Amino acid sequence: MFYVKTSFGYADVVTEIHCDNVFTRCPECGSELNVDLAEVFSDGDADLESTSIICSACTKRRMTNKAVQRR
Ligand SMILES: [Zn+2]
Repeated sequence: MFYVKTSFGYADVVTEIHCDNVFTRCPECGSELNVDLAEVFSDGDADLESTSIICSACTKRRMTNKAVQRR
């Protein structure tokens, strides 16, 4: 079992980490995304500080923009 512990000085808050209670925000639109850390780190090329995950809508918009630029 892994958990996150945050100390507020007067108390510590401990939260177990599961595949359904880890979230991040899309760096482009700010949407909250549920993240399965095991999946994110499965390729061994990610880290907690610099890895970001782009939501499906922004991914679709990026792909559309690239397709338009190629024409
Ligand atoms: Zn987004």
